[in-house]
Amino acid sequence: MLEPLEAAHADCLRDESRASGHADYIAHPRSEADILAILAEARQRQLPLTIQGARTGIAAGAVPRGGIILNLSRMDAIHIEDHLLRVQPGATLAAIREALPPDRFFPPDPTETTASIGGMIACNASGALSFRYGPIRPHVRALRIATADGHIHDLHRHRDRADGPRARLGTLELELPALPRPAVKNAAGYHAEPGMDLLDLFIGAEGTLGIILEATLDLLSAPGAVWGLMAFLPDTAAAVGYVNALRAAPPGDPARPAAIEYFDARCLDFLRARSDLLATRGIAIPPMPPGAACIYAEWHAASETEAEAAVLAAAEELPRFQADPDTAILADTPPELEKLKLFRHAAPELVNSTIDERRKAHPGLVKLGTDMAVPDPHLGDILNLYESDLTASGLEWLIFGHIGDNHLHVNILPRDPTDEQTGRALYARWAAQVIAWGGSISAEHGIGKLKRDLFSQMAGPETLARMRRIKQQLDPQTLLNPGNLLANP
Ligand SMILES: Cc1cc2nc3c(=O)[nH]c(=O)nc-3n(C[C@H](O)[C@H](O)[C@H](O)COP(=O)(O)OP(=O)(O)OC[C@H]3O[C@@H](n4cnc5c(N)ncnc54)[C@H](O)[C@@H]3O)c2cc1C
Repeated sequence: MLEPLEAAHADCLRDESRASGHADYIAHPRSEADILAILAEARQRQLPLTIQGARTGIAAGAVPRGGIILNLSRMDAIHIEDHLLRVQPGATLAAIREALPPDRFFPPDPTETTASIGGMIACNASGALSFRYGPIRPHVRALRIATADGHIHDLHRHRDRADGPRARLGTLELELPALPRPAVKNAAGYHAEPGMDLLDLFIGAEGTLGIILEATLDLLSAPGAVWGLMAFLPDTAAAVGYVNALRAAPPGDPARPAAIEYFDARCLDFLRARSDLLATRGIAIPPMPPGAACIYAEWHAASETEAEAAVLAAAEELPRFQADPDTAILADTPPELEKLKLFRHAAPELVNSTIDERRKAHPGLVKLGTDMAVPDPHLGDILNLYESDLTASGLEWLIFGHIGDNHLHVNILPRDPTDEQTGRALYARWAAQVIAWGGSISAEHGIGKLKRDLFSQMAGPETLARMRRIKQQLDPQTLLNPGNLLANP
């Protein structure tokens, strides 16, 4: 079952963070029995296991630190029955979408559609639509988990719960001390609270507590109509004001968007400058006023009439924020929505390929991408902080992200190692401020191996000690994903 690691497996030593690791063996199991056999060998020989889905993670969670790579990409079966999706861990988001009947809808939507469902659940992934539908966690109805002791557990939401701070998991008697969580979008740390649904312990645990063997997720009925509006605002303050106006509609109100996304003027310039390259991929640059920032909002409505009313109301708000409604771009058909989506999704990919190009001159250079979220009142503050620090720094940068959730990705594109150092210092300064405001240093990408220091600052020693106690009970030999979230004991 275990193959010695060879040059042909070099890709499996990396993920999209571009960090690289090392391993002794690799396994591509095709069944649960294979996984249990590999776990038994790992226990017997004290070999650590690094679980891999599609390796699109950007926190090095799937990058091995010795031992065995457990690559689950070949376990990718998909079953759909009415409003339930039952999937093996290696099934990708793209394959799931492809398999959905047209009247069904799966809301979790990380931008990278080659991500696997196991990786998405392990990282509690989210995307643009999380503004309305939340991260993947609430959509998970059941999980089948293998723990390090070789036992399999079927955990159903609302059925398998902790009894206060204690829980029974197979033969294990667990103590689950409550862990504090910031009141913002968050993908950092374990989820534990008295009386919890036990499957929540494994969602967002980044593969450190168990291996996801199968997941059952809820499907929604497809919305009656989906409309989008790309609006252009003269500056950051106007963009923040417009976002606050859009999200003033309460949950359940048809005027409340499903997604509110942001692209600063520098991001739009970055894409404009690469219009020829984008054209070769069939992506057109929409007409955009120069120097403006962009807010893209999308509505999922019961009917075309309801969607039209919501979009018209949003367009009518624009003059209040010195924006011209005539420059806004409406997408009210699937092909038009797809065109805008391809354009928006080009930003992260082109940033990565630009850094890959620069790495030829400076091997080891990495993109610095933030993933922090702040409470609502601090949205304007964090944008001002980012912009003033970055403008003073002389670095190359751009900002895009999920502004409806106060969750922005600052992308710093270092030209050389000195730039990278300057960027890292800014990153640390912003993280300290975000923590002080009660925010999260990772809203969707997770901690992996790259953000442990920032996570320690955010969580504090008592929470880290409680997390270690949870880990110790479930994986006393530290076999599963050592180095993720917590430094090795
Ligand atoms: C261009 C780009 C855009 C992105 N956009 C988004 C976005 O919008 N939202 C978002 O949330 N993320 C985004 N990501 C990050 C990434 O796609 C997600 O973190 C995704 O959930 C990772 O899935 P994966 O299958 O690639 O996991 P991997 O990278 O293989 O693994 C990620 C973590 O999950 C663990 N894991 C994987 N499978 C299992 C399993 N079966 N059981 C237990 N643990 C497991 C791994 O050990 C690792 O710790 C983006 C990445 C890129 C490159």
